[in-house]
Amino acid sequence: MAGFVYLFRLGKVDPALLDLAERCIRDQFRLPTRIAARKIDLAPTFDSVRNQYHSTKLLREVITDPPGDALRLLGLTEVDLFIPIFTFLFGEAQLHGPGTILSVHRLRHRFYGLPENRDQFHERVRKEVMHELGHTFGLVHCFDPVCAMRSSTYVEEIDLKSEEFCDGCRLRLEEKLTPLR
Ligand SMILES: [Zn+2]
Ligand SMILES: [Zn+2]
Repeated sequence: MAGFVYLFRLGKVDPALLDLAERCIRDQFRLPTRIAARKIDLAPTFDSVRNQYHSTKLLREVITDPPGDALRLLGLTEVDLFIPIFTFLFGEAQLHGPGTILSVHRLRHRFYGLPENRDQFHERVRKEVMHELGHTFGLVHCFDPVCAMRSSTYVEEIDLKSEEFCDGCRLRLEEKLTPLR
């Protein structure tokens, strides 16, 4: 049975961003997508001292009670994410799935006090969708300097990567994806 990658809006999310993520998933993973109907309340994951949202708690909400035809679950958010041992996270994923979340908060130029650059912002979002969803299909961090699976702590490192998986990661990914299509 064919399944879908379900996208969740975590809080207020620009519809253009959801669109961008859906197109990226169809292009890079060649899987169909759907927008999840279930609403997720962010309030219980807010940490008022840090003024950020607890990533792991939010991810737990995303993977709760998934639709029967869900292959993977991706939560997109504009809010800033953390886990107790890190100052911030771009995203968090479960290796081999089913769920992942991604924050675009620190992918925007205005976060760094710079004028918006829509093209580069969208490029960052696509790279991070590939990266986090890649984890859910079993891909681990890659040492190829331009592979989308290279780990990035800072946004500059995201900019250095390409919008491609290296040959090795692409091969491992396709082995996982082929039976799902
Ligand atoms: Zn990663
Ligand atoms: Zn790679």
